[in-house]
Amino acid sequence: MASHKPKSPHKAPNPVKNEPKQFFDLIVGNAIDFFDTSIKDFEKRPKYSVINFCSGLELILKARLLLEHWSMILKSPDKADLIKFQSGDFLSVTVVEIIDRLTKICNETFSPDETKCFGRLRDHRNKMVHFCHDAYSKKPDHKLLEEIAAEQCMAWCYLHRRLKGDWSKHFQKHRQAIEGINEALHAHRVFLNTKYSTLKPEIDKEISVGSEYRTCFACGFPSARVSEIQEPVHEAECRVCGTRGSFLRVACPTCSKLSDIDDVGSGSCEDETCGVEITLDDVMQEYVPPYDPKDENPASYYCAACEHPEQSATILGDRYFCFWCHEWFDCTEQCGFCGEHLVGFDPDESGFTGCFMCCIAAREHFDKD
Ligand SMILES: [Zn+2]
Ligand SMILES: [Zn+2]
Ligand SMILES: [Zn+2]
Ligand SMILES: [Zn+2]
Repeated sequence: MASHKPKSPHKAPNPVKNEPKQFFDLIVGNAIDFFDTSIKDFEKRPKYSVINFCSGLELILKARLLLEHWSMILKSPDKADLIKFQSGDFLSVTVVEIIDRLTKICNETFSPDETKCFGRLRDHRNKMVHFCHDAYSKKPDHKLLEEIAAEQCMAWCYLHRRLKGDWSKHFQKHRQAIEGINEALHAHRVFLNTKYSTLKPEIDKEISVGSEYRTCFACGFPSARVSEIQEPVHEAECRVCGTRGSFLRVACPTCSKLSDIDDVGSGSCEDETCGVEITLDDVMQEYVPPYDPKDENPASYYCAACEHPEQSATILGDRYFCFWCHEWFDCTEQCGFCGEHLVGFDPDESGFTGCFMCCIAAREHFDKD
């Protein structure tokens, strides 16, 4: 007969294994609550809108980090104490630290524009908490609301792109609430109308002499000025809300129609009857220079910045570009262990630690000795 140990009435089942998911949902629920409050307060109490919006953003980023391990959202993970964590008694990470950990530990990439945008939001919140400006205490004027609307449209756009894209599998349960915030934030665009109307004559004039504008994905106005950085990389910068982003303008490999691809992970041909998916492979085939046996170095590279598991970077003009994470690099480096050429890579110590492609092999090799 199998003997059962009597259960201690004081000992809870080991919480470590199941808790993170539970904390995740709690934190996301709180984040959604902060965003809702921020939206409600926007017109009448902009100070609270700024503070709560920033808290919402911080909590979403923390929730993502928590999926790695609950101790990751503590200021010092080495002093992690689950009991204190469960009771909410801990010092947590700042936005800058969250972005740093998400980049280094969770392999997420943040563009400089996105990092700056989140940083500005945090600075603005800190100002509101410590030294609230006069403009916020009296009846808020239009100019002030316009600035906050632009700031929130931009930050939400970056965050929503993640929540809809790579992170959607984690946030599935909260999808409806997230889309609710997205729709409610569209109302902010009304506050940017005046700015758009003021700029419109200038934009029209520029278009008449050949400039190109596209719809801004953050504020929705046709006010994002397009410029070619280096074929096929283009950049669009919005004159209303300031959001900047890059995209690829490539010929469809099936029907040759020029199509704008924001993301090679999910971009497709703009021709309605064609509509085929345009993949990283298609773009690499088109833009990686043909192999030259005289040349010692290869022309396509792995990217250590985003650690995409396929080669995703090549030389464009006099710099290197990763089609996956849209980052530019000045040089390539070689892994000291496997000899692979990479962009965004620090070769120091790589003879022992390897690169992201070979690190397991490197570790096993040196552990053997
Ligand atoms: Zn915009
Ligand atoms: Zn096509
Ligand atoms: Zn990359
Ligand atoms: Zn390597």
